[in-house]
Amino acid sequence: MIATEAHKESEDKAISPQSAYIHIPFCTHKCEFCDFAAFAGLIELEDEYCQILAGEIESRLTQQKLLGEVNLSLKTVFYGGGTPGLIKPSNIAMIHQRLLQFAPLQKPQFGPVEIAMETTPHAITAQKAQEWLEIGINRLSIGIESLCDAELTAIGRDHSVAEAIAGVKLAHQAGFESISIDFMYGLPTQTMTSWQTTIDAALELTQECPSIKHISAYGLEIAKNSPLLSRFPRDSSSYPSDDLCVEMYESLVSKLEQNGFGQYEVSNFAKPGHQSQHNLTYWRNAPYFAFGVGAHRYVDGVRSANFRSLKKYMRHPLNDEVSEVIDSATRIKEGIMLGLRLIEGIDLKQFEQDYKSDLLALQGPEIEYLCEQGLLELSDGKLKITRRGIPISNSIIGRLI
Ligand code: SF4
Repeated sequence: MIATEAHKESEDKAISPQSAYIHIPFCTHKCEFCDFAAFAGLIELEDEYCQILAGEIESRLTQQKLLGEVNLSLKTVFYGGGTPGLIKPSNIAMIHQRLLQFAPLQKPQFGPVEIAMETTPHAITAQKAQEWLEIGINRLSIGIESLCDAELTAIGRDHSVAEAIAGVKLAHQAGFESISIDFMYGLPTQTMTSWQTTIDAALELTQECPSIKHISAYGLEIAKNSPLLSRFPRDSSSYPSDDLCVEMYESLVSKLEQNGFGQYEVSNFAKPGHQSQHNLTYWRNAPYFAFGVGAHRYVDGVRSANFRSLKKYMRHPLNDEVSEVIDSATRIKEGIMLGLRLIEGIDLKQFEQDYKSDLLALQGPEIEYLCEQGLLELSDGKLKITRRGIPISNSIIGRLI
């Protein structure tokens, strides 16, 4: 279903994706807050799923070449989930080989290639970490969420703080040179004190494991039918208030920056040179391939997604569940929405080149008002959200799109 007239007519047809996302949906346990295409208790489907996924990669990339993209090459590959770290490394190796057979990695003279993989900490073993490195994975993203056991229990994670720390140490000792650790704030039972404990413990861990070069921290977002709501309804006093979440966020930014983790996106911080190149593809509104159950791609100006049901995907891996041609008005909105998440902001000249639209002419009075309020800043030809504006970035972006 990837070759449609709409693809050919799209404005983006000249831009070839240089990034690929591969979704591995298996988890040991379904966390109560999780709204991803992630499934517990189905690991017996692993081999069959991986074969189907490799077939999907082959078919879609072959089709892409038939459409005229003969020189496909990749700058970033991201194995996300789910828990890719849970499955046999031999399956990751098989999928990776198939991917590179049809879309090889870019030559080193064009800059470093990033091959990242997500895992839970307790899925890491010394043996697996070694095999991941041999496959070529050079960045590990470890979901820790909290370094307080009570909070991990509250959100229904199935690992402890001790297991989280042990997993990170195993990855570091195996030789990974770029590790990202992920956290969440706004959790039930979380207080300012427990959040500070998590940040301080994370920073202590970076001393022991200097290969931790990247930290992400997202505010908890609860999906409509999340099982977490049965224990902690939305109005439960166990959640920190909105004002407290803003304080948590501000303390996170200041502590991480004091420790050399520069903020480059609303929720992401990195040591120099260790920003997530794959995620920058999304934030820069560039095209990317995606494969696997529920995976969303942006190819030839069309955003489309595979079936989210594992059963349907495994029967019809080449059928899209949703598909939308992105017209120029939507593309501009996406460019504003994604660009303002980046701390560097939107380069207005670049924006005009990319979107054939003058942002100041389009949204001048609104931008002027938000600048007067100290929520946006316009300098050196760049439009950015200010420190003060970041905690309410969603509503600022909402006014501009
Ligand atoms: S480990 Fe991650 S992907 Fe799996 S259920 Fe938990 S939050 Fe979702």
